[in-house]
Formats: sequence, structure tokens, C-alpha cells
Amino acid sequence: MPPVKTVEQGMTLDPSQRLGLSACPPAEWLPRTILASQGRTWGTPLGTSDRTVAARVDAGRWIAECVCGHPSWVTPSDPRLWCTECENAAVSGRWLSVAFPDEATRLEAERVLSVRIPKDQFWFPDRETVADLMSENVGKLDLSPFEGW
Ligand SMILES: [Zn+2]
Repeated sequence: MPPVKTVEQGMTLDPSQRLGLSACPPAEWLPRTILASQGRTWGTPLGTSDRTVAARVDAGRWIAECVCGHPSWVTPSDPRLWCTECENAAVSGRWLSVAFPDEATRLEAERVLSVRIPKDQFWFPDRETVADLMSENVGKLDLSPFEGW
């Protein structure tokens, strides 16, 4: 069954892109790729803001919404976000910090979500517990809680 994908696990890259991005922190992968496709240049943000945005699972991917509302693909291995829409104007162009659930909870939630097809993998950690996800698996999605484990 499919795992919840982070940016470095899920981005579709050609070999030359992958080689170039391998030298960059994962939080830079998405903005660098989008800017390059638009003919825009990347400038490394000057520091990280204390302002935090919350990570959640959306259709099988870890995402966070910028303070402007634009969603970006994120990763717990480098929990920072730089938005290609507003260029993090609200924090003077610095990185936004991305808040993930603690690792044990995150891994447990990912395991429970992994029995679902990606389009059914959603989790709002601020308002749903892992037990809620398991109940959804059994109740709404009609999956055995042990299917795929
Ligand atoms: Zn933004």
C-alpha cells in the first residue's frame, strides 16, 4: 500500500534535476524546480522565521499552507517552507517553519493511512487523532484495520 509521500520521495524529476537537487536541502527542491520552470531565479532565504505553519496530509502528500494560503509539498526531514506565490513576504522572505506532529505520532498516522489509496489519505493533526484515522479506515472506508500491515 502507498506511503504518505514527502517532497523528496514523491517529486517527479528527470535524472539531471535529481542530480542538481541532490546537493540542496529538501525544502529547496520544490521552490527551485517551480522557479526554474518559470524562468525565475532562486535566492537563498536569509534565515528562518519563528512563524510556523502546520503540516497535514492531503491526498497522500505532506503539505503545509503558506500564510498566504498557497499549499506546498513539505518534508519532516527539512521542515521549512518557501512559497513560490508570495515569496514569504509576510516574513520578509525568510523561511517559514513547518510544524509536524512528533515523530512517533506521525509514523503511526502514516502507517494507518498507508492502507488507503493516496486520494483517500488525509489527516489534519490539529483536529484528528490517530485513533480517528483508524476509525475512519474501519467505518467510512470499509477497510480492515489490519489490511496491508
Ligand atoms: Zn505564500
